[in-house]
Amino acid sequence: MLTRKPATLPDFDTVDEERLHRKQRLAAGFRLFSKFGFDEGVAGHITARDPKHADHFWVNPLGVGFSQIQVSDLILVNADGEVVDGRLPVNQAAFAIHSEVHRARPDVISAAHAHSIHGKSWSAFGELLQPLTQDSCAFFEDHALFDDYAGVVLDVEEGRRIAAALGPHKAVILRNHGLLTAGQSVDEAVWWFITMERTCQSQLLVEATGRAPILIDDQEARRTAGLVGSSLAGWFSFQPLWDRITAEQPDLFG
Ligand SMILES: [Zn+2]
Repeated sequence: MLTRKPATLPDFDTVDEERLHRKQRLAAGFRLFSKFGFDEGVAGHITARDPKHADHFWVNPLGVGFSQIQVSDLILVNADGEVVDGRLPVNQAAFAIHSEVHRARPDVISAAHAHSIHGKSWSAFGELLQPLTQDSCAFFEDHALFDDYAGVVLDVEEGRRIAAALGPHKAVILRNHGLLTAGQSVDEAVWWFITMERTCQSQLLVEATGRAPILIDDQEARRTAGLVGSSLAGWFSFQPLWDRITAEQPDLFG
């Protein structure tokens, strides 16, 4: 009889092993973002901090579709925005935003941003999400609003303001733009993005009825957040998606 062991947080013997692990998770994250329909043109980036050079991060190169990204396509960007490993250029917006998020939050290993349809639609209200469902409680008192829009983010100063708005939270809604999530692993950042996008969709569906929903009360939302919103819960929730995408698209390891 086949038995399946529960997923456990990985351990690494070497920094090279840990780097490869992060890059594989990153490539899988892009494939999943595409599968969920989060890609639009060349917008969107997911980053993973390098395990050795803490001020460097791995990211998708500008202009390569999420659906085709392989581990070998990922580029390493230093603190000055220079590509120090890889052949293709970095998206300037990816550097402007992610470098400042990684700098402001040493605990953040990975940050994810895309122009997904429900996230960007919800962002136009300039409001936080409400505790409407059990899943939405992952974001209760743990997301923020960047209540400004000043064009495409090309400037690290704006990235700094986004990082300040994010504060200690797992996510920030960028008004008139989209969502950004952060985590202590690539797995976690990608999962928060996926479930936050769906939480936006859920709230938009509820509001579209014109009927008044019943909110989860603060105490219950806080208690639920402690379960579904923990770093470990975020990591764990990603594992079935990892199993699925690596079985379906093993070329991502290329
Ligand atoms: Zn963007």
